[in-house]
Amino acid sequence: MNTATRSGSPLGRIPLPSPDCRSCGFTSGLIRQDAIADTLQEYAAGWQRLLRAPGLSGRRTGTPSWSLLESGCHVRDMCLLFHTRLDAILGQSLIAPRLSVGVGTDTARRYRDEEPQQVAEELGRAAEALARRLAALTDDDWERGDPRLADPRLTVGFFTRHLLHDIAHDLARAVRESSGQ
Ligand SMILES: [Zn+2]
Repeated sequence: MNTATRSGSPLGRIPLPSPDCRSCGFTSGLIRQDAIADTLQEYAAGWQRLLRAPGLSGRRTGTPSWSLLESGCHVRDMCLLFHTRLDAILGQSLIAPRLSVGVGTDTARRYRDEEPQQVAEELGRAAEALARRLAALTDDDWERGDPRLADPRLTVGFFTRHLLHDIAHDLARAVRESSGQ
């Protein structure tokens, strides 16, 4: 699932917050708040396994959607960019990494040229930094809504589960494709 082009309220594209997904099996209600950080790290480990598989660099062009490498780059950048949403809702954190220049610009073309091993490293670091920040959130933080949006359902908890689903959904697809199913 490519969320890079979404803007405004994600509820404009899905009818209810964090729906369960038949395609990838993601069930947001089953992920406890205090398990979200660990779940993110598990998904990141799954992505790293795929990106480090031998021969991946020879299969950079995916059809019809992004290749595994491009999707891995996208997951890494989603983890990095999520800090800007958290910053907007909760204020800036010392845990947040500095965003690398160029994230979010002309990404699709650049993604194809990245090195899978390096992407795996960066994805792991980005997920770890985000997981550390999420693990430090208070109950009040999780319930806090985005002041720029009018919908009170759009809390930190909602956005984080939405992000997790994006990562899980893409991971399930990548696993299917890499195993030839
Ligand atoms: Zn899904």
